[in-house]
Amino acid sequence: MKADVLVIGGGVIGASAAYHLSQAGLKTRLLERNEPFQGSTTRATGGFRAQFSTPINVQLSLLSREKLLRFQEETGIDPCYQPNGYLFCARNESQLQILRDALRVQHQAGLTESHEVSFEEMKRLNPALFTDDLVGGTFCPTDGFMVPMNLREGYLQAAQRLGAIIEYGIGELRVVTEHGRVKGVQTVQGETIDCPRVVNAAGAWAGVLARAAGVDLPVEPLKRHVAVTQPTPNIPPLMPMTIDVEDGFHLRPYQGRARLLMPLDLSVHDPFDDSFDERWLKAILPKACHRIPILSNVDIDRAACWAGLYEMSPDKHAILGEAKELSGFYFVNGSSGHGVMHSPALGQLIAEIVTHGNAKIIDTFALRPERFIEQDFNPEQGIL
Ligand SMILES: Cc1cc2nc3c(=O)[nH]c(=O)nc-3n(C[C@H](O)[C@H](O)[C@H](O)COP(=O)(O)OP(=O)(O)OC[C@H]3O[C@@H](n4cnc5c(N)ncnc54)[C@H](O)[C@@H]3O)c2cc1C
Repeated sequence: MKADVLVIGGGVIGASAAYHLSQAGLKTRLLERNEPFQGSTTRATGGFRAQFSTPINVQLSLLSREKLLRFQEETGIDPCYQPNGYLFCARNESQLQILRDALRVQHQAGLTESHEVSFEEMKRLNPALFTDDLVGGTFCPTDGFMVPMNLREGYLQAAQRLGAIIEYGIGELRVVTEHGRVKGVQTVQGETIDCPRVVNAAGAWAGVLARAAGVDLPVEPLKRHVAVTQPTPNIPPLMPMTIDVEDGFHLRPYQGRARLLMPLDLSVHDPFDDSFDERWLKAILPKACHRIPILSNVDIDRAACWAGLYEMSPDKHAILGEAKELSGFYFVNGSSGHGVMHSPALGQLIAEIVTHGNAKIIDTFALRPERFIEQDFNPEQGIL
């Protein structure tokens, strides 16, 4: 099959792009260098939220949620969307003000159910929470969880049914250019696949792929860790994702255990190294036990812990659109740790951009690639 468009990267973003491009009537071929169980999508914890502080991120979440609700009907796979809610906890008035400002943005963007919570409500929502040093918080009952690999699988299967070719394990690809246009991609064996349109869905490696084609794409890897407790009856299955705004510590229930996370930037030699760093575990445990005291009596299942890479953009927002310097080269990158939850929306939007030249369903001006050169950054508070 001679493809109309090639997608590089077989994570959830590439899968969603391949499905939506096929749905738009384009002959699509997705190419992934590795076998299926590598990449950031396999490392994600499955959080979904619409509580963001910029209109565009709220809109991406609302569109994604709408699509999650009909995902099984559309793809045949259950995304296991579980609306436990996200509970943000503030320790002082300035943190609470950030949450209140975000609420205003959310309500204006159409997320009506997020709200400020009293201490009583915080305790009711998460009885394990230590609240003595908190001043308040916010909660959104439709935030929650889904299963990242089900999203990827659903989109891959649905894309294949629409005629897309999906190929894993084909080795590193590079983009071939000619006279300021995309000509196709080249495999490590030197085979060139001609195609006038290439979508960069290379996750944390998207910047490397673009730079090799002479295009500046500011996406950098950032290591993030997850600690997993031993099974415990103390973490109820309906516990919301609970976030301490002060240090970003958060936890969620998962199959009778707790998953513990916290952003902490440790020194690394290789920015693409995704090995688990014991220094992180040492730093997070006191914070976890402080916020959720019952965790003091629960051991960590060290063998179940892991790390992976976020794909950071300079303003922690996705980069979406065609490269100005290279016609036919499209970005759907830089989701900065929110790529799974936003993949339903981003796949549809990139398909609209490739097909029509611009996004139709929402205005994606705030995500245009050239905003960094223009110094027009999005102001996400980026608590997580
Ligand atoms: C610990 C952790 C927890 C997370 N939790 C969440 C969460 O709760 N919710 C959420 O929404 N997100 C979460 N994320 C972020 C999420 O995992 C990413 O945003 C998302 O997976 C990005 O999807 P992707 O398809 O762009 O990247 P990936 O899944 O990494 O896919 C990109 C693929 O491109 C391939 N590739 C790269 N370069 C080339 C090349 N030159 N040739 C061929 N193939 C190439 C790679 O091999 C890779 O498979 C988490 C991430 C981590 C690390």
